Amino acid sequence: MPDLKMIARYPFLRAAADYIRNEQIELEQLLTDALYLPARELGCKRALSAVSAPTKPFELSYNDEIGLLYTLLSYPVARMIISATRDRAAIARYAVAESKNLSALASGEKPENIVEIANDFGIEVQISEKTGRYAIHFTGYLTFTSQFRGSPEWKLAYQDLENGWVHLSKEKFLRILEEALKRKIERELPLPVDASIRSRFQNEISQIREIVEKHKRAFPSREIGALDENAFPPCMKKILEVIRAGENAPHMARFAIVAFLKGLGLDAEQILKLFSTSPDFDPAKSRYQVEHITGKSSHTEYKSPGCATMKSYGLCMAGDDALCGKEWMKHPWVYYRYRKKELKKQKLPSPTTA
Ligand code: SF4
Repeated sequence: MPDLKMIARYPFLRAAADYIRNEQIELEQLLTDALYLPARELGCKRALSAVSAPTKPFELSYNDEIGLLYTLLSYPVARMIISATRDRAAIARYAVAESKNLSALASGEKPENIVEIANDFGIEVQISEKTGRYAIHFTGYLTFTSQFRGSPEWKLAYQDLENGWVHLSKEKFLRILEEALKRKIERELPLPVDASIRSRFQNEISQIREIVEKHKRAFPSREIGALDENAFPPCMKKILEVIRAGENAPHMARFAIVAFLKGLGLDAEQILKLFSTSPDFDPAKSRYQVEHITGKSSHTEYKSPGCATMKSYGLCMAGDDALCGKEWMKHPWVYYRYRKKELKKQKLPSPTTA
C-alpha cells in the first residue's frame, strides 16, 4: 500500500480513496469540521489555480504529516468545486492542470513509483533492463496517444518497437500518464453536488465561472469573423473543440487548422486569437508557428492538408457524416464551401413567407 507521501502527491490513486475511507473521514466532516478548514482552503486554492493557470504546478505542501493529509484532502474538495460549476470548459482546464501537476511531480520520482501510478491507470509497463526506458505494450500506447498521433514523433511507425512493446523515454512516458489522468478526470466529473456544497463554495464557483467566461469571450463560440463555424467539417470542428477545451492539440492538428483557416481568409492575428485560449499557449512560439504556416514570416505558404493526408494522420473524423462519405469529398475546404451553401439555402425565407 502506498504511503501518505505518495498518495498526497498523487491523490487520484485508488489507494488515496482507501486511505480516506480507512481514516473514517466523512464528507460532512471534510466540509464542515474546523479541523479540516486548511484542507478546504487548499482545495479552493487548488481549483482556482487549476482553472486560472492549468500548466503551472500547484503550490502544495508535501512535507509534514498534517500538511500531507490536507494536501490529499484538497483533491476531493477541488473536484467538488469544479463539479459544482457544471461547466465542461472548467472541467477540461482542471483536468489539464491535474495532469501537468502529475508529470511535474513524477519527473523526480523513482521508476518503481512511476510504474505503480501507471498500473493504477491500467497501463501495462516494464522498465527495460537494457536501456532503462519505459516499455509500454503497444495496445496501451495506441489507446493513450490517439490525440497526439497527428504529430510524427508519436506515430507508432517511428517508435522503438520490440516484440509488441514500445520503448519510451521517461519524458514521453510521463506525457502518456498525463493523458491517462486527464481522461480519467474528464470521465469522472462532474460529480453530483448538492445545494449545501454549492452554497459553501459559492465565491469560488463564481470566480471559476468568471475565469472560464473570460476565456470563452476571447474567442466567440459560433463565428470567426465572417466564417460560419456550423459549416466546418467534423475534423476541423474536433480540432477546434480540443483547443477550446484547453487541451493540447497535436502539432499536425494545429498545422491543419491554421492552414484551413488561412485558406478561408483568416489572417495570422485572428488565428492567434484562437490559439490564445489553449492552456499551453506560448505567445512567441505560437506566433512563430502561425506566421510560418501562413507564409507571413517565410517564403513558403503551406497548403491545407486534404482528406487523404488527414486520414493518414488519424485526424479525419468523418464517422457517418453523409457529406464526408461522398466520393468527391477530397478536402476540408470542399466540405466547408458545400455545407455553407446548403446552410444558406436553409436560412432563405420561403416565397410564401417573404
Ligand atoms: S472526410 Fe475530409 S472533411 Fe470529412 S472529416 Fe475526414 S478529413 Fe475532414
